[in-house]
Amino acid sequence: MRYLVTGGAGFIGSHLCDALVAEGNQVTILDNLSTGRQENIEHLRAEARLVHGSVLDELLVDEAVRESDVVVHLAAAVGVRLIVERPLHSFLTNVRGAEVVLEAAHRYRRKVLVASSSEVYGKNGGPFREDDDRILGSNAVSRWSYATSKAVDEILALAYHRERGLPAVVVRLFNCVGPRQSSAYGMVLPNLVEQALAGRPLTVHGDGLQTRCFCHVRDVVNALLRLIHDPRAEGEVFNVGSTEEVSILELARRVVSATGSGSPVRLVPYDEAYGEGYEDMRRRIPDISRVRALTGWEPRMSLDEVITE
Ligand code: UDP
Repeated sequence: MRYLVTGGAGFIGSHLCDALVAEGNQVTILDNLSTGRQENIEHLRAEARLVHGSVLDELLVDEAVRESDVVVHLAAAVGVRLIVERPLHSFLTNVRGAEVVLEAAHRYRRKVLVASSSEVYGKNGGPFREDDDRILGSNAVSRWSYATSKAVDEILALAYHRERGLPAVVVRLFNCVGPRQSSAYGMVLPNLVEQALAGRPLTVHGDGLQTRCFCHVRDVVNALLRLIHDPRAEGEVFNVGSTEEVSILELARRVVSATGSGSPVRLVPYDEAYGEGYEDMRRRIPDISRVRALTGWEPRMSLDEVITE
């Protein structure tokens, strides 16, 4: 099959491209190399084609979609730091980008998987089921406008499916970690590991008792492949993530122990980390029964294995 992966030079995208190439598919990567990196896909130079451009470029997207059988739309603004610093850019990239890709997929009747985010659940407690209510704060808080942008992507994909018969699948990705994830956009695990290895204090925001579940990117890619390959997934939304809950403080302790670092942990107020008015989720855990029931998928790697790698 011919795959188009938007955002294919990014962290998750590049691992997906590895898996698609290993399955013997033809892979085209559309990436503007803003947060994606050439070095993530350097080893695929012979197997995958890189189209250097933006999902906002309608002609480029049209051409790339026309030449593919399946589209995986991963290109998006990524990381809390970028979202806080560039809210307009983030919103337009996500909403307009998804619209352009979905329009083209519909034009050529191509199957499409749209990557959404656990951010859409907002401040709700969890474990989240896909049809749970979403509880968002004010639009003035960049984080919630980002959540809205991803929700719009979902709405577009599902509306194209229902009203126009587009074979579309929506995946809500929870915290995903692993090799090639950059620390530059604020993600906690690469940051803590870099700090520990450099002997700097590990920065833990707030009281550190907020919890997350970290899923290894290879497990995530495995879920994406199963959902792409299963026609019963079309028109549905799926949570994908780990269910092993850990507080950020405990995560920092485990990073210190795994690296043998002498670094202390430093609690950093949210205001200092992200500026005035930042809101965080206390808890973020997926309910993965839907993807498990349909495809048999569940994460294989434990948190300790993930940290070690
Ligand atoms: N965080 C932290 N130290 C860091 C970076 C992030 O304590 O150096 C916290 C962040 O405030 C949040 C959690 O770790 O509570 C996860 O942050 P990340 O940006 O990785 O993911 P998300 O907030 O999207 O779940």
